[in-house]
Amino acid sequence: MASSKTRVCEPPAIGIDLGTTYSCVAVWQNNRVEIIANEQGNRTTPSCVAFTDMEECLIGDAAKNQIAMNPSNTIFDAKRLIGKRFLDSTVQNDMKIWPFKIVEGVCSKPQIEVAYKGVKKLFAAEEISGMVLTKMKEVANAYLNADVKSAVITVPAYFNDLQRQATKDAAAAAGLDVLRLLNEPTAAAIAYRLDQKPTNRSKPTNVLIFDLGGGTFDVSLVTINKGRFEVKAVGGDTHLGGEDFDNQMVKYFVEEFNRKERKDITTNPRALGRLRVACERAKRILSSTTFTSIEVDYLHDGVDFSSKITRAKFEELNIDCFNKCIETVQRCMEDAQWDTSMVNEVVLVGGSTRIPKLQQMLHDVFDGKNLCKTINPDEAVAYGAAVLAANMSGKGNKMVKSLVLLDVVPLSLGFEMRGQIMRVVIPKHTPIPVTKEVATYTNHDNQSSVLTKVYQGERSRSIDNILVGVFRLSNLPLAPRGVIKFNSRFDIDADGILKVSVEETSTGQKGIITITKDKRRLSEKEVGRMLQDAKRYKDDDQDYIKKIKAYNALEDYFYVMKTKVNDDNIRQQLSQEDMRKMDDLVHEAWDWLKTNKLAEIEVIENKMKELKCAYDSIIGQFM
Ligand code: AMP
Repeated sequence: MASSKTRVCEPPAIGIDLGTTYSCVAVWQNNRVEIIANEQGNRTTPSCVAFTDMEECLIGDAAKNQIAMNPSNTIFDAKRLIGKRFLDSTVQNDMKIWPFKIVEGVCSKPQIEVAYKGVKKLFAAEEISGMVLTKMKEVANAYLNADVKSAVITVPAYFNDLQRQATKDAAAAAGLDVLRLLNEPTAAAIAYRLDQKPTNRSKPTNVLIFDLGGGTFDVSLVTINKGRFEVKAVGGDTHLGGEDFDNQMVKYFVEEFNRKERKDITTNPRALGRLRVACERAKRILSSTTFTSIEVDYLHDGVDFSSKITRAKFEELNIDCFNKCIETVQRCMEDAQWDTSMVNEVVLVGGSTRIPKLQQMLHDVFDGKNLCKTINPDEAVAYGAAVLAANMSGKGNKMVKSLVLLDVVPLSLGFEMRGQIMRVVIPKHTPIPVTKEVATYTNHDNQSSVLTKVYQGERSRSIDNILVGVFRLSNLPLAPRGVIKFNSRFDIDADGILKVSVEETSTGQKGIITITKDKRRLSEKEVGRMLQDAKRYKDDDQDYIKKIKAYNALEDYFYVMKTKVNDDNIRQQLSQEDMRKMDDLVHEAWDWLKTNKLAEIEVIENKMKELKCAYDSIIGQFM
């Protein structure tokens, strides 16, 4: 691509799609989006970083091209590690097939271990992503003959706060100011809209964005009306994509090699790396033919490997993943209360949407509707990011300037209440940015501190969701329960990052949690699992809520009863005998409450009846 030689005073803001396997950079120029090719002439750049004995470090094509020679020091898939804990099952599983080494760092953060200029060195995932972003910035700088300072960077819609924060850290390491973290499917929706004929742009359109890349899967339902993009629902899995299909094929051929040659290559990173490259190539070929072969010379112990695979076999190996994608689409449609007839367009984004079986399955779900393949699946996300970058820096044409984005929270956020009940403050699919405030009160007499536990998820019981942050407010003024009031404020900014503050209203004492990089939030697989669980366990959850409500009602009744029994006016009217009976009743009820937190609902309700009856028979007459 020709280089623009005009030096601009203020460098334009760029759009970067930071992908698991490939990244892409774009800019709004000359009244349109230009996808910027790298020095090799490629419009996408591998998200790959290599460390060698001699060179500084290689990024992009240069890194990918030497992967077979230097597998244990060539890092890919850093995006799959971002925001994860070392012990997360996805990390543990990925580690088994990655040729590079992962070790456990501080706060259980996974660290990538490489030999760099002959010395052992550790890197966090965001450092590697930062290097990829640096490369993308340099690609843009070379093309624009400028020093780019700011960018819109895309993330999967399902990325949690920690992953979003880590992406911002990566950008900071690359010297980029993040104008906005934009959800990938929303970026694709923008690209789709700009690609439409002007005559069609005037009509409101319901679009399903199906975005399946190398490592992540996102579904978004978006209503587009003129320049307004309203996300209605999102779904996905931030650990599902083309790499999983490659892995299935690698496993299949590892077993075949083992069977044929009686040799195990799983301990040979170089052999695994070379087999993976061959499998990815075969996978791409199988999108256009029904049969292909694999040849890897000297795969292991000097033995060549040669085999064949049909498209049908590839589909069989991956049918579980494909089904998962379709189930996610259906769940998302249910969430938005859309039926298939309401979807005007199904837009395919991401390299893996080229797989014919997936296209056919989607086609069937949408009653034979044609799938929209007019936008480039590899470039659409960077395209949309560049449009938003122009919009946010006051550039672009009328259409770009009129852009309004209404993105949503992927999962509900709230805090733990009495009885481990999740009190939702911001329900899933609430448009962002959003601020919500709720009032709470102390649960006990003379309570001197309060612990706030913030959770994310759809289950009724807090502990079935994911704990995203904890903090304690201490030295509260001593007062009877229910007197001390707290205002809890949840802020989610346009990047989807959460901040929670709790203020004790009488003293103004405040605690703030921002979900920072060392605090782990959701692991991606957990997000999908939690949504499924929430449906599956709905009945259990309802029962639990009923039980806790009954328990809380009993506890509330107990406190009212205790206050009355201790009221001097009432005590004066009671006989010694009744007073003793009432004091015993209060003590016994308190002991019962302490030891029967997990009682069945009938038992709690019976206790309530018993207590009311005893109380009414003595004190009721004075009320
Ligand atoms: P993206 O993250 O959107 O760049 O997508 C990259 C993924 O798409 C990688 O896993 C590629 O192997 C996969 N991919 C690219 N082209 C094809 C194709 N023709 N058939 C199947 N998968 C493909």
